[in-house]
Order: sequence, then structure tokens, then C-alpha cells
Amino acid sequence: TPLYLNGFGGLKWFRPLKIQHLLELKAKFPDAKLVVGNTEVGIEMRLKRIQYKVLISVAHVPELNVLHVKDDGLEIGAAVRLSELLQMFRKVVNERAAHETSSCKAFIEQIKWFAGTQIKNVACVGGNICTASPISDLNPLWMAAGAKFQIIDCKGNIRTIMAENFFLGYRKVDLTSGEILLSIFLPWTRPFEYVKEFKQAHRRDDDIAIVNAGMRVFLEEKGEDLVVSDSLIVYGGVAPLSLSAVKTKEFIIGKNWDQELLQGALKFLEIDIFLKEDAPGGMVEFRKSLTLSFFFKFFLWVSQQIC
Ligand code: FAD
Repeated sequence: TPLYLNGFGGLKWFRPLKIQHLLELKAKFPDAKLVVGNTEVGIEMRLKRIQYKVLISVAHVPELNVLHVKDDGLEIGAAVRLSELLQMFRKVVNERAAHETSSCKAFIEQIKWFAGTQIKNVACVGGNICTASPISDLNPLWMAAGAKFQIIDCKGNIRTIMAENFFLGYRKVDLTSGEILLSIFLPWTRPFEYVKEFKQAHRRDDDIAIVNAGMRVFLEEKGEDLVVSDSLIVYGGVAPLSLSAVKTKEFIIGKNWDQELLQGALKFLEIDIFLKEDAPGGMVEFRKSLTLSFFFKFFLWVSQQIC
């Protein structure tokens, strides 16, 4: 049954069971916070002492919990828990053609190093996306993999936006107060399309990244050569938001996948990923070298895949 509880200090807590009810609540309380795992909101309220007046638990809304395998990719409801998502990725990797699941494999590897099991059992995909932490382990991958986000407003209108365009600034996303994230669409990869994850932290298990990344390249055969037809290189931990290396992308598109491309890309990465000496987070030299070494590793990995 839907629940409504009153808490200390006038706090209202709702648990709708239907999307219609959720949208009505969001229309009535535009500043309401959605919660699923409470692993972000709980910390904000208890440790940072932020007082939210209205919380809406959306864990039981069916439309936000879909996990559909489609012809062209995977549809993932915003409230799907990370453990569930991991299971689904493992299933599709077993069942589908290997070339289609390059992104799925990258997500499997990244989720392995994401928090502990308890957190993954309750934390949802949409909570990670909408928090838009500059060090989110998954947002660089959604962007690189060409994922699309479906957004629904209080009236039920749905719009679609590329993950690449959704993050606007420090913990700022392209959502108005009347909108929520409905689902994520992750396309299958094509032959000669490769996606890879990267994360460097002080400790391998259950630690926040120093720098992380998601990278994708799509190669096309042109005569004897393999030429970059599309790409996206995205880093976390180097800016107030997950940052796409735009100039590097422009440089590598149309180039052969060879040593020359590698050397040029490393130069452009230094321009794209600019960290001031006093950048928040410190370890500037280390972070700069991580951004370059991740791309170096990506280059070697892709080269290995194609031969
Ligand atoms: P909640 O706290 O329930 O909600 C988060 C926010 O998202 C809220 O502001 C809420 O309003 C909004 N929101 C949720 N759903 C929607 C929606 N459908 N539409 C619009 N807004 C929505 N993160 C990493 O990236 N890597 C890690 O390794 C990692 N480790 C962690 C370890 C610990 C111990 C903890 C506490 C957190 C960690 N996190 C990590 C961060 C966190 O677990 C994730 O961001 C998680 O996915 C958030 O999901 P949630 O369901 O708990 O979010």
C-alpha cells in the first residue's frame, strides 16, 4: 500500500506505488527529494545537517524499476539497484554477441569497485546520476557509452537527452524542479566499437576514486586501415563535473588507430584536462599523469582487441 508518514520537525515521507501518484506529489511539492537507497540523502541529512521537508521513496514505482532487454540496447529504470543492474549485465554478456556488450563489460568491471555489497544492494542508478558527483564512477561511462536519459515531468511528458549533455556543473543536472529521471537507455556496441572503464583510488576496494574515466571508440575499416569514426573520452575527478575531452575527440576522429594518434591525443588531453596548481582535491601532478596513463592503457587495450 502507499504510505505517508509524518516525522520530526514537520518532515513528510511518502511512498507512492504508481507513477501517477509520484508525479502528483512532485507537482504538489516541487522541492521534494526522491530517495531509493538513501546513501546520498542520508549523508546530506545526518552529516551535513541539510533539512529536507518532503521525501518521496520511489523504490516501489514499477515504471522506475524496469529492466528490459531490447533489440537495440538495454532499458534501465532509474530506481534499479546497482546489484540488480550488475546481474543483468552479467546475463546479457552471456547471452548476446560479444561485440554488442563492450559497454556492459565495462560497467561490470566498474561496479566491482563501487562501494560494498550493502550499498550496491540499496543504491540506485538514478540516485548516482542525479547526484552528479564529479567523482561518480558511473557517469563518465554513461556518457562515453552514448547512453540516453528519459526524463518525465509532472504532466507525464517525456523528453530524451544524451547523457553527454545532462551534466551542467557541480552537482547540477538538466532537470527542472518538476522533472525526474525515468530511465536510462544503454545502446549495444557495434563491431569494432570498444568501451572501457578506469578508476584509480588509494585502495582498490570500496574507496572513492582519485581519477576515473569512461572511454569509447568506434573504428571503421577504410581499405587496409582502421579509422576512428566516433569517440568519447570522459574523466571524473578532474573538474567540477564529469568532463568530456572535446579537443581530443575532435583530433582523433578520422585518424588511423596508430602511434601517431596516440602521441597527438596525449598532447590534446593536456589541453582538455586542465588542472590548476591549486585545484580542489590536490595531487595535481598525480591526477594529470593518471589522465594520460588511462588513455595510454585504452590505446593499448583497443589495439589488442583489433589484432
Ligand atoms: P538516494 O540517496 O536515495 O538519492 C540520491 C539523490 O538522487 C537525491 O538527491 C534524489 O533526489 C536523487 N534522485 C534519485 N532518484 C531520482 C530520480 N529518478 N529522478 C531525479 N532525482 C533522483 N558512488 C560512486 O560513484 N562510487 C562509489 O564507489 C561509491 N561508494 C560509496 C560508498 C558509500 C559508503 C556511500 C555511502 C556512497 C557511495 N557512493 C559511491 C555514492 C552513492 O552510493 C551513489 O551515488 C548511489 O548510487 C546513490 O543512490 P541512492 O539510491 O542511495 O540515492
